[in-house]
Amino acid sequence: MAILKILEYPHPVLKQKAEPVAKIDDEIKKILSNMLETMYDAPGIGLAAPQIGISKRMLVLDISENKDNPYIIINPEIIWKSDEVNIYQEGCLSVPEQYADVVRPEKIKLKYQNIDGKEQIIEADGLLATCIQHEMDHLNGVLFIDHLSRLKRNMLVKKLKKLQEA
Ligand SMILES: [Zn+2]
Repeated sequence: MAILKILEYPHPVLKQKAEPVAKIDDEIKKILSNMLETMYDAPGIGLAAPQIGISKRMLVLDISENKDNPYIIINPEIIWKSDEVNIYQEGCLSVPEQYADVVRPEKIKLKYQNIDGKEQIIEADGLLATCIQHEMDHLNGVLFIDHLSRLKRNMLVKKLKKLQEA
């Protein structure tokens, strides 16, 4: 296992649409296990492959308090989302130390492959639903700051640049 380098805004890989995972081979499994370790080390509650420079549709997350309930999610697809929305203050390991309220559907139904390639369908709400949607945005080259008004986004980007230069 290894801790991977987390890419930060404005790295170009973060703006790319990621490719589906064709085959869950040993290499993919190794990357996923390193992603989990990297996420726990950061610490964070979610990490998508583009954030470590791998433009593939896979992510890991764990919102549990004891960090003992990891999800490994490959080729995810949201098959239903609620009209009701939730607002959470979001942050991102690729946009360090910046936080802002983001509005997203409160509940989703998600189809994905687990690490054994088995199709899973889960319903998620609350923080889990928000976290899945945040991580899935990364697979489409979208960051949480892209959900904000231009004014708010520019403010966060300015603060981030200052932090990165320091
Ligand atoms: Zn993120």
